[in-house]
Amino acid sequence: MDNKLRKLLTIIPDTDRVITGDSIEEVYKSDVLGRLKGTVWAVVRTVSTNEVSGVLSFAFENDIPVTPRGAGTNLVGSTVPLSGGIVLDLTAMNKILELDKETFTATVEPGVVLQDFQEYVEKEGFFYPPDPGEKTATIGGNISTNAGGMRAVKYGVTRDYVMGLEIVLADGRVLTVGSKNIKDSSGLSLKNLIIGSEGTLAVITKCILKVIPKPQSSVSVLVPFNSLDKGIESVQHIINQNANPTAIEFVERKVIKLGEEFLQLSFPYPQAKAYLILTFDGYEEEIERNIRRIEETVRKHGALEFLRLTDKETAANVWRIRGALVKAVEAVSEQEPVDIVVPINKTAEFVEFVNKLSEKTNMQMISFGHAGDGNVHLCVLRGNRSESQWEDERKENMDKIYTKAYQLGGLTSGEHGIGISKKRYYLKETDKTNIDVMNAIKNSLDSKHILNDHKVYML
Ligand SMILES: Cc1cc2nc3c(=O)[nH]c(=O)nc-3n(C[C@H](O)[C@H](O)[C@H](O)COP(=O)(O)OP(=O)(O)OC[C@H]3O[C@@H](n4cnc5c(N)ncnc54)[C@H](O)[C@@H]3O)c2cc1C
Repeated sequence: MDNKLRKLLTIIPDTDRVITGDSIEEVYKSDVLGRLKGTVWAVVRTVSTNEVSGVLSFAFENDIPVTPRGAGTNLVGSTVPLSGGIVLDLTAMNKILELDKETFTATVEPGVVLQDFQEYVEKEGFFYPPDPGEKTATIGGNISTNAGGMRAVKYGVTRDYVMGLEIVLADGRVLTVGSKNIKDSSGLSLKNLIIGSEGTLAVITKCILKVIPKPQSSVSVLVPFNSLDKGIESVQHIINQNANPTAIEFVERKVIKLGEEFLQLSFPYPQAKAYLILTFDGYEEEIERNIRRIEETVRKHGALEFLRLTDKETAANVWRIRGALVKAVEAVSEQEPVDIVVPINKTAEFVEFVNKLSEKTNMQMISFGHAGDGNVHLCVLRGNRSESQWEDERKENMDKIYTKAYQLGGLTSGEHGIGISKKRYYLKETDKTNIDVMNAIKNSLDSKHILNDHKVYML
């Protein structure tokens, strides 16, 4: 055993929590897509802040790169250990430490799985609104990517529910940023710097989250249209009604068909070309009032029907199919996932541009996503192209897609993050001074570039 490994084992006393050599599972070298791969010297499964701090100060002293990792469900290569070294697996730090019913906060370790947390607080009469599609992701991963999801229209994104964090810096120093206080004008918001930083600035070891009282009821509605444009156009009118929908999703029929085949389930109103799926939550009478207003509005703006999903099974199937779309597309072909966000009044123009590009280039491009906040999920499919064809044509089309999004005032990523896969586009779009400031922050917090080097904004 070499000296470094011997030293690491003094920090992590359980030998089965330090994995090296052939025992390292392939998943640790990549993200959920598994296409980009790195190398790993050791996987370390920490169980406490002390251990994380010990591992980081050891890595800092010995110039060993560290890649923090939650459930590994990111789609942008942000858990790929590009420079080798240690993969810090935080999934065993998975305790819900406290639900403070008086301050409406919960304190959890970073490895708590989103679904477990949502279920736990709901059983206690509370609600955690951030709801990204992949429920097996961890809270630490959600915070590090500022995960969004379907309920962002009404409730906002993960950032809006993080009150405080305990973090460990690259050299092992531990600090707390933020608190249980609702207001905070006390100095720089270091908490907000860490949220969405994709593990490049610090490792999150504790999270204080805001929870709210659980809404009494929730109702979903399906609105079919004879074109996607009509559907997306009506979103502006829906928002204007101030009827507070929790989610407004758009999806084309051709994509739903893939979901139906993938899950062997059927979706209502198959004769439509596109759909909006909405949910409303709150008190029953409030929901009823809001739904009636929206029904009137969408019928005026081209809806073919207005289907209340009152049957529990139909509602569950509709959301299951919507939730499985990324996987359904993946089952058909390799694809490049895109999560561009554009100002909400530009969503229709952006999707129309993509559809025309798809026709012109004969490369299948499937869009669906969060119509209420302009976050378009786009899957660009490889089909039966050879490796080199796929490489060339994909790059060419991606450049056009991102350029169009920027022209419309959009951004590279609405919720998935930049990682490695989107760095090329992100650096192109972002003002050099912004990138310089980000690198200056990185250098002051992690002068040796131990944490997640070469990713996101790093030159
Ligand atoms: C089918 C599917 C659907 C999805 N739908 C959505 C969606 O609707 N909305 C959305 O936002 N995302 C979505 N995602 C993407 C993904 O689930 C999110 O990015 C999620 O937040 C990642 O969490 P994770 O625990 O898997 O983190 P990981 O993938 O393990 O890590 C993500 C990043 O966070 C860093 N990190 C993880 N834990 C810590 C920590 N404790 N401290 C510091 N850094 C850390 C890692 O280094 C990495 O940079 C989807 C993914 C899939 C596969």
